[in-house]
Amino acid sequence: MSTLEIRNPANGELVIALPADDAASVAAKAQAARAAQPAWAARPLSERLDCLRAFRAAVVAQLEALAATMTRETGKPIRMSRNELNGLLPRIDFFLAECEQAIASETVYDEGGMREQIEHVPLGVVANISAWNYPWFVGCNVILPALATGNAVLYKPSEYSTLTGLEIARLLHEAGVPRQVMACLVGGGEVGAALLAQDVDGVFFTGSHATGKRIAEAVGGRFVKLQLELGGKDPTYVREDADPKAAAESLADGAMYNTGQSCCSVERIYVHEKIHDAFVEAFVQVVGGFRMGDPVGEDTYIGPLTRLPQLDVLAAQVEDARQKGATVLTGGRVGGGSGNWFEPTVVVNVDHTMEIMREESFGPVIGIQKVRDDAEAIRLMNDTRYGLTAGVYTPDEARARRILSQVHAGSVYWNCCDRVSPRLPWSGVGDSGVGLTLSKYGIQAFTRTKAWHLRSGS
Ligand code: NAD
Repeated sequence: MSTLEIRNPANGELVIALPADDAASVAAKAQAARAAQPAWAARPLSERLDCLRAFRAAVVAQLEALAATMTRETGKPIRMSRNELNGLLPRIDFFLAECEQAIASETVYDEGGMREQIEHVPLGVVANISAWNYPWFVGCNVILPALATGNAVLYKPSEYSTLTGLEIARLLHEAGVPRQVMACLVGGGEVGAALLAQDVDGVFFTGSHATGKRIAEAVGGRFVKLQLELGGKDPTYVREDADPKAAAESLADGAMYNTGQSCCSVERIYVHEKIHDAFVEAFVQVVGGFRMGDPVGEDTYIGPLTRLPQLDVLAAQVEDARQKGATVLTGGRVGGGSGNWFEPTVVVNVDHTMEIMREESFGPVIGIQKVRDDAEAIRLMNDTRYGLTAGVYTPDEARARRILSQVHAGSVYWNCCDRVSPRLPWSGVGDSGVGLTLSKYGIQAFTRTKAWHLRSGS
């Protein structure tokens, strides 16, 4: 049997070697899920929601230990691990409050003995292949509404957040979800690929564009529901009427929180030339106050990168920018020691010939570009194949709305950034993916509609 080694990104030490799944065990779990799903779907919704309620209570009771586990395997600063778990609670509350309404049957016609109804039925067995950067959020955005709406879930957490994935499954089992209905698969991409080969009714993926494309190709032609939540190169524009200091404080956090490893991290900043210098000065000052260190430290803001290979990606982006004439104001280097350290990095005099303004960095690295006016900012914000989020800082709401309505993105922000709400759909356009999670539509996403034509009489 092969094993999966979990390493601590802060020091490279082996945390544990776990027995991994293989093609045969993946197939067995998929068959068990198929057999168990109808009985799960036949339970009253209230019983399935009770399981989510018990799961929520367990997360609250075990929060400190769960946060420590996530920090050990991903390097997420401990305060941010706690924040993620606390942030999960309103998401669960949203699902608990909205599920019944979101999937209630509707009578849309009733005349002359003829009735027409729409029913939402579960997809069946769904595969969830997931990322490591917010493992509780991205895992539960799929798992919880999928289970609540009567599906069985085959969940393949990232190989970089497997202990957390196993904890999610354990707490759900303890909360009353049958093991066959909620199965966790341990391993890397090969286990994900083995999962795609099974008889599933939906594939829900969160991860990189490159893997998303591979998954779309693997699933293509099978006519199963496919959702891909992929990366981005999320832009923000700071208008000339914005407060440069307030915008810098907000955007430095938006760019560097979770060591820059958020799908909706601010990845590119455009600043009007009139306030560019004041903004950059304030931004560098804020970044200078971010403490990089052991992620278990209470005052640590920048931790190690979760994935070692990302160090090379960031170093190459910074070097490419430098060679093309950019100025690195702070950071830019791989940190010392045995962990995956990269200094928080601010680069100016950048343009769109540079990788740093075109490809996802997914680390504590940001390019800031000067622009002349709104039109140039809009053009540059749209000069990307991605479209996850985009934002504008200005006191003028009407202006912000005019700008953001012209920007291609799944979510847009006025005077805020790096924000996800359970009440709003989370989606991307272009290479940022297809489909959505969260909101009432992210509950319905785990169902298909069944149309009922009912004529009374014989
Ligand atoms: P990744 O693509 O490397 O891996 C994601 C998952 O796919 C992992 O579980 C991995 O084991 C699996 N996988 C790899 N190859 C596979 C294959 N051939 N077949 C099936 N499964 C396979 O991504 P990552 O490094 O885990 O995550 C980071 C990326 O995720 C970033 O690009 C980030 O922007 C994106 N992300 C997007 C969102 C969103 O909501 N849009 C949220 C979080 C992360």
